[in-house]
Amino acid sequence: IPFREIKALPFAKDDQFMTFERIILSKKLLHSTLTFLGIDVILEHSWIERSLFTDFLITLYGMKVECTIPKDDGTLASYVGFRVQHDNARGPMKGGIRYHHEVDPDEVNALAQLMTWKTAVANIPYGGAKGGIGCDPGELSISELERLTRVFTQKIHDLIGIHTDVPAPDMGTNPQLILTSKICSMAFTQTMAWILDEYSKFHGYSPAVVTGKPVDLGGSLGRDAATGRGVLFATQALLAECGKNITDQRFVIQGFGNVGSWAAQLICEAGGKVIAISDVTGAIKNNKGLDIPRLLKHSTAKRGIKGFDGGDAIDPKSLLTEDCDVLIPAALGGVINRENANDIKAKFIIEAANHPTDPEADEILAKKGVLILPDIFANSGGVTVSYFEWVQNIQGFMWDEEKVNSELKTYMTTGFKDLKDMCKTHNCDLRMGAFTLGVNRVARATVLRGWEA
Ligand code: GLU
Repeated sequence: IPFREIKALPFAKDDQFMTFERIILSKKLLHSTLTFLGIDVILEHSWIERSLFTDFLITLYGMKVECTIPKDDGTLASYVGFRVQHDNARGPMKGGIRYHHEVDPDEVNALAQLMTWKTAVANIPYGGAKGGIGCDPGELSISELERLTRVFTQKIHDLIGIHTDVPAPDMGTNPQLILTSKICSMAFTQTMAWILDEYSKFHGYSPAVVTGKPVDLGGSLGRDAATGRGVLFATQALLAECGKNITDQRFVIQGFGNVGSWAAQLICEAGGKVIAISDVTGAIKNNKGLDIPRLLKHSTAKRGIKGFDGGDAIDPKSLLTEDCDVLIPAALGGVINRENANDIKAKFIIEAANHPTDPEADEILAKKGVLILPDIFANSGGVTVSYFEWVQNIQGFMWDEEKVNSELKTYMTTGFKDLKDMCKTHNCDLRMGAFTLGVNRVARATVLRGWEA
């Protein structure tokens, strides 16, 4: 059984998930990954194919736990949480923990895999993992979120560890305002701080067990902005490669959470014109360019961009197909699909979210000549600065923000060069190049460690 359940409460029907269904699901998932990777890559490296088909099912570990907490009103509520560990050939497994009502085991598995390839493309010494709890964090009070996080940590504390598996923030667990929270607008999530505190009760104080912590508890300067800053560096590298400059591009950004808002700010500071943005409350457009600092103030005060007077309200559904040069999906997965791919007008798509483009849309966009910078490279700035945070915690020495940002720039620039070289060698597009780079690095580590003949 590839999916381990440790210290979890018994599940009724769902139990099947741990046995046969899990295996079938894994095969299905594997099949779609291989299709996504493209058969050429697999044929060139038939031993990877063998390894993926056989060992994959053995190396994919996950844990499913039920977390029951008392709610503020005295009733009890149960939430299902997951931690999936995909691969550790290159180092401890690494990946965020997502709090979202759509979290399900298949999604967590897929995201854990993406982390394996992402850390490999970024060339940081980690494998891949992912976790999540099926809940709506905006509907929970801060104390309910704390209880839920602590119960979840109690159940997974023996699975994670400084040198085994290092969690981090993801959607719904970022150190940012929970826009729709029942609590006041000052409410910051401290999810990583609670994980650290709870873990430390079992294992002694261990700041390096989780990244994306508040700076006061060993978090890294620059971590909050890191994914957005990485998106900026990645975009600059791609545009430069195409003989273009950020200052002559019009940007549309989907999402104004941690990633989208930082990307918008930094692109704007670098001279780019952000002409449309959406979040869960709505979408706005201004062809002359949105005033991002003012929009940020508005969205903090009003818990969303809706009602901003510096632009016209537009239908959020039409945002992705707005006329622009660069489209940055920075929210949910699967948003670019066959329904809208044909209508996309952007020449470049920078995948700041995880898997925002589905394979069908990928094909349509390729035919249209749209260049897509894939998620496993484009949004790797976050996990890269997580790596810097882990290094600082292990060294017991804090870097200044300038060092963090300049190291990030080095990693993103080198990453783009590696990616471009791979595309040249294999005459393939950027997504195929990124997967080939990632898979090859993981494969090499697997062989060198003697896990594969
Ligand atoms: N959740 C982020 C991602 O998807 C960051 C992960 C990390 O820092 O470990 O890349």
